[in-house]
Amino acid sequence: MIKITASVFLKRGREASVKRFHPWVFSGAIQSMEGEPAEGDWVEVKDFQKETLGFGHYQKGSITVRLLSFSKKKPDDSIYQHKIENAFNQRLFTKVINEHTNCFRLIHGEGDGLPGLIVDVYNGVAVMQAHSPGIHHHRHSIAEALKAALGNTLHTIFYKSQNTLNKKTDNEYLFGLGVVPHVVTEHGNKFYVDWEEGQKTGFFLDQRENRKLLGQMSPGASVLNTFCYTGGFSVYALAAGAALVHSVDASEKAIDLTRKNIELNGFDPSQHECFAADTFDFLKDKKDRYDLIILDPPAFAKHKDARHQAMKGYQRLNAEAMKIIKPRGVIFTFSCSQVVDPQLFYDTVVSSAIQAGRAIKVLQHIGQPADHPVSIYHPEGEYLKGLVLYVE
Ligand code: SAH
Repeated sequence: MIKITASVFLKRGREASVKRFHPWVFSGAIQSMEGEPAEGDWVEVKDFQKETLGFGHYQKGSITVRLLSFSKKKPDDSIYQHKIENAFNQRLFTKVINEHTNCFRLIHGEGDGLPGLIVDVYNGVAVMQAHSPGIHHHRHSIAEALKAALGNTLHTIFYKSQNTLNKKTDNEYLFGLGVVPHVVTEHGNKFYVDWEEGQKTGFFLDQRENRKLLGQMSPGASVLNTFCYTGGFSVYALAAGAALVHSVDASEKAIDLTRKNIELNGFDPSQHECFAADTFDFLKDKKDRYDLIILDPPAFAKHKDARHQAMKGYQRLNAEAMKIIKPRGVIFTFSCSQVVDPQLFYDTVVSSAIQAGRAIKVLQHIGQPADHPVSIYHPEGEYLKGLVLYVE
């Protein structure tokens, strides 16, 4: 049973964003509270005239309530299952899940009406990640809802919130006991996924369609995949017939994963080489070697305070790649920092082009795929930005 432990009353005028379905209530919007909710509890949100606006999870801090329902009616126990089923149907309907792909993001937080929750599914294994105390508090109900919504296609649920919530939150199996590493298929390419030891939930699903696009341009090309992690882009390039692929990552573990994924797909090892190195160092003496370069760094800015420094990093990285790429080369460049908006990223890449002094065309603006949806009322959910550049 869902228990509502408090009512949160908003200041006059602060109901407007909730009425527009924005799911966050900031502490500054709150007039008063009735009841004493614990972190993670369900609360009711009301306007200054005591009209109900919706229901959500409470937490202390700048975002005080994350709304899961914008209805006047109290949610019932089926709310998680209902939302998970909706999300699953959307992935099926948009053919993200198909005979060639058995790994996908099932829940993308606010984009799926479940603020604070990420669920990635790896061929029968769901990896759940909480970004709010509300999701943590209700993790067992959510796990039950996942089982009910996915039925026998699901055999394991791993809860992994140590790095997103609090170091004291244990990572644990809530259902089943999947064996790592585990093989998934993405557009027919195979990858090992290790949700226990890997970064984030174990694999970066958000680049799926961009990897496919890179594959289309790869036949016969020499390709440099920097910040390669599990070698996603490298595998697609080789599968499409690249002449040569170099994969670079600062982490030895990531390089090891890339090597294993190259082996798993049965490619000719002489066409691929791995380098455990810093990308900035690696690029220094590589003029005119590559036709295609991928720049997919980790979020250089995680907070607004770090944004200025981060932009310098993006600026330098792009300028270095633009200087060394062969004539008629293509650069896939990305930023996954949520605090860097598409215009700022674009302007930074323009500044890199000016510094490199080469003729450059923008071929495509790319981003996150259909299983990372953004609520139109919550533009903050759009985090992955990419540009495909042609360097003459
Ligand atoms: N492109 C990958 C995801 C990249 S995640 C994919 O498609 O799955 C970012 C990676 O950058 C991490 O593996 C991290 O180890 C690596 N990294 C961070 N700083 C780096 C640096 N300065 N040089 C090279 N790799 C770096």
